[in-house]
Amino acid sequence: MQNILNDIAETIQAQKQRGVVADYIPELAAIDPKQFGIAVALPTGEIYSAGCAQQLFSIQSISKVFSLTLALGKIGDAIWQNVGREPSGDPFNSIVQLEKEHGKPRNPFINAGAIAVVDAIMMGHEPKEILAEILQFVRYIANDSSIAIDEKVALSELATAHRNTSLAHFMASFGRIEHAIEKVLGVYYHQCSISMSCEQLAKAGLFLVSEGVNQSTGRRVVSAHRARRINSLMMMCGHYDGSGEFAYRVGLPGKSGVGGGILAIAPNNASIAVWSPGLDKLGNSMLGTIALEMLVQRTGWSVF
Ligand code: GLU
Repeated sequence: MQNILNDIAETIQAQKQRGVVADYIPELAAIDPKQFGIAVALPTGEIYSAGCAQQLFSIQSISKVFSLTLALGKIGDAIWQNVGREPSGDPFNSIVQLEKEHGKPRNPFINAGAIAVVDAIMMGHEPKEILAEILQFVRYIANDSSIAIDEKVALSELATAHRNTSLAHFMASFGRIEHAIEKVLGVYYHQCSISMSCEQLAKAGLFLVSEGVNQSTGRRVVSAHRARRINSLMMMCGHYDGSGEFAYRVGLPGKSGVGGGILAIAPNNASIAVWSPGLDKLGNSMLGTIALEMLVQRTGWSVF
C-alpha cells in the first residue's frame, strides 16, 4: 500500500494541469494549488499516507456527510420531509431546481440540501450549541479531539454569502426553513470550515467502511442499514453534477468539497481521503479524482 501511495503522489506532483482553486471564497483562493495529500485508513486502524497528508485543509462540503449522519441520528427519516434523495444534475449552488420542486432540495449534499439539514438539526437550539455538537461528532468519529473550525474561512464565506443566502430565503418562502436564516447559515458556514488533514478525514470515514462501526475504535456510529444508505447517497450525489462521472471513473461512494478534498469509501476495505486544492469545472478536485482513479486501478477496490 505504501508503494502504491508513493507512486500516486509522485505522478500527481508531476502534473502540470492542476485545476483552479475555489475563488468565490477569498480564504480558499489563497491556497497553494501545488499541494497534494492522500491517506488510506484500514479498519484495523493502520494508516498509510503520502504527500502532505497531515496538512490541514478546509473540508467544506465533505462536512455534509457528517451533518447528515448526525441528522439521521437525531430525527431519523423525518429529515426526508424537506430534503430529497436524488442526484441533482445541477451545480452545487444552483437555485433552478428549487423553484420547480417547491423549495425541496434534491439531496442533502448540494448546498440547499445541506442548509435544510442544518435547519432540521437546530431544533430550537442556538447556533453555538448545534455547532459544538457537529464538531464533537466529527471529533468522535475521527477519534481526534484536536479537530477544529477555521474561523477565518467561515468569516470569508459569510462575507461572500449571496448565493447561499438566496437559496435559504427561497426555501423559507416555501415554508421549509424554520429558524432564522442568519443563524442557520452561521452554523452551515462553520461546519464547512472544519479543518482536517487527509489522515484525520480518512479516519473519520471508517464507520462507513465496516457497516456503521469504526473497527479501529470499536465504536458503532450508525446501524449497518444506515451506513449503506449514506454510502449510496455519496455514490449518487457526492460530486454534484459530476457524480455520474466520478462513479464511472472511480466507482466508490465519495464526497468532495470545494477545498479540494475528497472522502471515498471502499466498503469492507478502506476509507480514503485525498486533497489537491485545484478544482475541475464542476467544483470537484481535479487531481484528487485522478489519484483515486489510480488507487482503485491498483487495488481493485471499486464497488462495481
Ligand atoms: N461552503 C461551500 C459553499 O457553501 C461548500 C461548497 C462545496 O464544498 O462544494 O459554497
